[in-house]
Formats: sequence, C-alpha cells, structure tokens
Amino acid sequence: MQDHDQARKRMVEEQIAARGISDPRILQAMRTVPRHRFVEPRDEHLAYTDQPLPIGHHQTISQPYIVAVMTEALELEDEDKVLEIGTGSGYQAAVLAELATQVYTVEKVEPLLARAKSVLEELGYDNVFCKLHNGTLGWPEYAPYDAVLVTAGAPGVPQPLIDQLAEGGRMIIPVGDQAHQELIKVTKNQGRIERQELGGCRFVPLLGEHGW
Ligand code: SAH
Repeated sequence: MQDHDQARKRMVEEQIAARGISDPRILQAMRTVPRHRFVEPRDEHLAYTDQPLPIGHHQTISQPYIVAVMTEALELEDEDKVLEIGTGSGYQAAVLAELATQVYTVEKVEPLLARAKSVLEELGYDNVFCKLHNGTLGWPEYAPYDAVLVTAGAPGVPQPLIDQLAEGGRMIIPVGDQAHQELIKVTKNQGRIERQELGGCRFVPLLGEHGW
C-alpha cells in the first residue's frame, strides 16, 4: 500500500508537475486517485509508470500525463457537472470526481463499464453516474454540462455533444484519423463555438454514429 502511495507521489512529481501541469487541485487529485485499482491485477506494478495500459476489449487506460493535460484544459470548478465519453477503466472519471460536483460517464462495452462501476463504488465515488450507451449521442437527460471530455479519438466533434454543452462550457476531444489525432478544445460562448488546438495525441477510436 505504502509502495503504491510513494509511486503515485513520484508519478505526480516526475511525469506531471515536471512537464508543466501546475494547478494544485489537479496535482492533488492525481495524488489521491489510486490508479493501481483501475488497471488489470497483473499490471498493478506498472500502474504508476508513464504509459497507457491495456484493460481488455482492445481498450486502454490513458497515460497519467494525458489525463492531467485533458483535465487541466477542462478548467473545472467545484460546482461543475461533467460528461465523460469512454469510461474505460473509470480512472479518468475518478480524477474528474475529485474536482467537480457530478460526473456522468458513458461507455459502450458492458464488461468494462461493470468493472469501472464496481471499482468506483468500492472507492466511495458516489458522485459518478455510469451509463451503457453510444456516447457520441451524449447523455441528454442531464444536459447541459459545464465540461465534456471525450477519451476516444473521433473523426469530428459529434453535434449532440456540442448541443449538450452549457453556455460557457468547455469540451476536450481528440479529433483526427484513427492513428493520430489533435486534442481540440471547444468552447461555447454566447452560443458561438470556438475551437482551439492543444497538440497531438493518440487514442483508441470513438465508435458508432457520429464516430467511426
Ligand atoms: N477514460 C478511460 C480510457 C478510455 S479508452 C480511462 O480512464 O480508463 C476509450 C473508451 O471509449 C473505451 O473503453 C471504449 O470502449 C470507449 N468507447 C469507444 N467508442 C465509444 C462510444 N461511441 N461510446 C461510449 N464509449 C465508447
């Protein structure tokens, strides 16, 4: 247990703070969430290394640094309501849950969602709500969202997600082809959509209507 705590502190210093993430709330959230609980048991010893890891079903838990980059770009406030597309392991949802009031997360692979849900429950994240669905359609029942985070690569920004973004809201989404994407920040101000490019990245594909 102590080994994991120390490895996690080191991860935050060496992989995240050292690369320019400075928001103390984000550093604290990443010092808190036990990433080793979200990886496959055989990979526990790799949980705090600088890489994505397989979680089954051809999917991966994202590299810790990219989780930090995307989370910082969302500019979360305590009262924010967040929508995540691509629950995967549930790790990113837990980081968001440390920083926002409610997290709604949508996943289309049932066994991944079931596992993420049970880990999140065991860790006491009662502000994370999970749904099995095609996430490119968002989760309209709880819209609008102050922040939307898509953790799979899309060919474009799905219109339903733009529609479900609150006024003043921020969306982070990897957009490109299936091999490489650009991380895009979409903001909605007085109904106008602005797009900003944050850098290159590589995610598994966002599948289904409005995706691949
Ligand atoms: N955020 C995750 C990593 C996500 S990997 C984590 O912290 O572990 C991307 C995930 O998106 C995969 O689990 C994949 O099944 C899911 N996905 C792909 N297309 C989707 C879609 N249309 N709707 C919902 N989930 C989708």
